[in-house]
Amino acid sequence: MLTGKVALVTGASRGIGCAIARKLAKMGALVIVNYNGSKEAAEAVAGEICKVGGSAVTYGCDVADEAATTAMIAAITKDYGGIDILVNNAGITRDNLMLRMTDAEFDAVLATNLKGAFHTMRAAAKTMLKKRYGRIINIASVTGMTGNAGQANYAAAKAGLIGMTKTAARELASRGITVNAVAPGFIETDMTRKLPEEIRKKACGQIPLGRFGQPEDVADAVAFLAAEGAYLTGQVLAVDGGMVM
Ligand code: NDP
Repeated sequence: MLTGKVALVTGASRGIGCAIARKLAKMGALVIVNYNGSKEAAEAVAGEICKVGGSAVTYGCDVADEAATTAMIAAITKDYGGIDILVNNAGITRDNLMLRMTDAEFDAVLATNLKGAFHTMRAAAKTMLKKRYGRIINIASVTGMTGNAGQANYAAAKAGLIGMTKTAARELASRGITVNAVAPGFIETDMTRKLPEEIRKKACGQIPLGRFGQPEDVADAVAFLAAEGAYLTGQVLAVDGGMVM
């Protein structure tokens, strides 16, 4: 159980982040539902958690913005005494074949998916050091392990996130802080709903379990790492129906 723990989930206004927020709250954590643009959706997520007896509040901030992210974590620390569990989930795609990809598409994905996680980890780890306890879980992607045509920016960011996870795991282990990554395959969210039917069918053919995952499948893995994974650090757990093994 996570009673008494404060969990920050970035990008929790929908999709995988929303499922993670619900799951951690169900396990007793006070959940900080972070969002960038979707204020109403984030408030609805927090409201639903509270309605079923959980604890959740919203904090808006673009994780790509260093000053805003540091200020958000300072505010959470002032209000709730620090962060015990950090889930770096916020992410975007700007897909394009590499030869056509613009610098703006490349930079936007790196700024949110990689640098955003750096900003939150650096600031949150400071609060965890004092407690000599922390669980950091970075939502990567199997694309960061295999590459994917049309996703040079996204694959670079997710591979970078895996490298940063392992580095942070080594740096923070002696302080009781574990750092792991969860690498989802194809999960049913807004991000994958826009894929053409033909690509979805092709993807299903590569998944031994024969279907896309649900956001809750990823949330279950995160919950395990947050609540049970005391002797697990620097690992990448693929939640992909067996697609990459
Ligand atoms: P969605 O597009 O459904 O949701 C993305 C979330 O991230 C939203 O809550 C959005 O909030 C938030 N967000 C985006 N940019 C920022 C930002 N700069 N600062 C703060 N929050 C931000 O995505 P998914 O739920 O599908 O994906 C969640 C994570 O899982 C991502 O990191 C993604 O790369 C990863 N993933 C997803 C897979 C999938 O198949 N769906 C597969 C592998 C990995 P707002 O609307 O307020 O901007």
